[in-house]
Amino acid sequence: MPQYDAIVVGAGFAGLYMLHRLQKRGLKVIALEQGSDVGGTWYWNRYPGARCDNESLGYSYSFMPDLDQEWCWPERYSEQPVILRYLNQVADKLELRPDIAFDTRVSAASFDEAASTWTVETQNRETMVTRYLIMATGCLSVPNWPDIPGRDRFGGDTLHTAQWPHEGYDFTDKTVGVIGTGSTAIQSIPQIADQARRLTVFQRTANHCVPAQNCPMPSDVEAERKANYPEIRAKSRYTNSGDFVPQGGTALMDLDEAEQRRVLEDCWRQGGFYTQYPFDDVLTDPRANAIVTAFSHEQIRKRVNDPAIADLLCANSHPFGTKRLCADSGYFETYNLDHVDLVDLNATPITAITHEGIKTSEQLHKVDTIVFATGFDAMTGALTAIDIVGREGAVLRDKWADGTRSLLGVAVAGFPNLFTVTGPGSPSVMINVVTAIEQHVEWIDDCIGWLEENSASVIEADADAENAWVDHVNETADATLYPQADSWYMGANIPGKARVFMPYVGGLRRFRLHCETIAEDGYTGFNIR
Ligand code: NAP
Repeated sequence: MPQYDAIVVGAGFAGLYMLHRLQKRGLKVIALEQGSDVGGTWYWNRYPGARCDNESLGYSYSFMPDLDQEWCWPERYSEQPVILRYLNQVADKLELRPDIAFDTRVSAASFDEAASTWTVETQNRETMVTRYLIMATGCLSVPNWPDIPGRDRFGGDTLHTAQWPHEGYDFTDKTVGVIGTGSTAIQSIPQIADQARRLTVFQRTANHCVPAQNCPMPSDVEAERKANYPEIRAKSRYTNSGDFVPQGGTALMDLDEAEQRRVLEDCWRQGGFYTQYPFDDVLTDPRANAIVTAFSHEQIRKRVNDPAIADLLCANSHPFGTKRLCADSGYFETYNLDHVDLVDLNATPITAITHEGIKTSEQLHKVDTIVFATGFDAMTGALTAIDIVGREGAVLRDKWADGTRSLLGVAVAGFPNLFTVTGPGSPSVMINVVTAIEQHVEWIDDCIGWLEENSASVIEADADAENAWVDHVNETADATLYPQADSWYMGANIPGKARVFMPYVGGLRRFRLHCETIAEDGYTGFNIR
């Protein structure tokens, strides 16, 4: 049976960097990847319009200063093929591919207490043994296929945005139904409408949107960033967002009405998540949130011709920003096209999928193609899909059945020598996820280095420390408006999933400093032998 010092599961942003760090440390390490190539989320999500809504100049590794200078990001927000090319270049430059097993899906992992090792099984029925097991499986990697009666009976083409055919899909002359109006749908709907003969969008919940204001990368912006990259990267590590964007310092409620309007107009002109950064109170004070919500609705009404459709597109079910904000490029104008319809599933819910199309309580919508833009079993789905069995037969899936419990999102009591990159309880999806990944990967690598130097063979999150961290994560979320939304942050998009606010909203800076203190103090909160 092959034996390793470390097995990394996944070869996206997290897995590639983890593999690189452990290789540099001289460990015998392999990465196991279910896809046929590197890229993770950027390998799978190839739907039309797929693009990152973090700015290109920040959404990349900070540990490759030469690549920072060589690489040119063509647009303010990068398209999926560009990011995938970037990750391929990283894999080639760092010569990672020889240590990655592709088309290898991990199905089970169990901890052997006597040997202090993990035995990892793959779906190809291979078995291997490792001292450290690092799950770099991504926060948004398991597609959510809603359980709509008759889904398997549909006679046309069924697509999920997160499992898009690699050869692409031609919508020309097709009648198309898109289910979902989250970030993914909002990116893909204008592109699908460009090709399709008829497009019907099935909306259950309108989402809050900000304009992306994507554009070709201005040469002066790129030159300025390249001139100052090292300094900016260093600063970004200690901002709350993991990005170098001016943040906070202003409470919207401290401004008079004219000034509030001026700042919001400026935010909309700048576009993207800049909208969230200038204010300290939008996600904590319902009055500030209502002002931003009203302003955003006003913008939608200016862009959508039919007032009834505009009303449906204005998000009202949750405070602004408490579900992940969507960044739009021409989304709202799509509804001004004659061949595009919006179905309000609150008024007429989907009752079934038939051979011919999507049936609501009102009518059958005949379509050639159904696109499920229905999201992911977020943050835990990839981990609970694997039979992970720790000490004394503890099963991770069972431990998390009533809600996720993890110390720093990096380790779980009862599961020694198992690390999770950007697991629940870490800032992960709340910030620039590449910076979040780097912080976790570096902490895990340093921790493994410390264990090796101190001849320790086992590290495990202490149950009391884990409880204290979970309490802190909950208290931090409860001080905000976030828990008011039925979001995937809360597990609310998956029927039967425990409702717990999973990510840490205290910001990267606070989290990083806390993690640093723990390491400096000899890994307090962890039991080591
Ligand atoms: P999502 O935000 O979870 O949206 C899923 C959509 O499907 C929602 O509108 C949801 O409605 C709808 N839906 C789910 N089940 C349904 C059902 N049974 N019937 C009708 N509608 C149903 O998923 P996503 O759009 O794929 O985005 C997930 C996350 O991925 C984003 O929040 C973002 O973090 C990330 N993402 C990032 C980028 C980027 O960087 N550019 C792009 C895309 C996605 P309800 O709201 O009513 O549940």
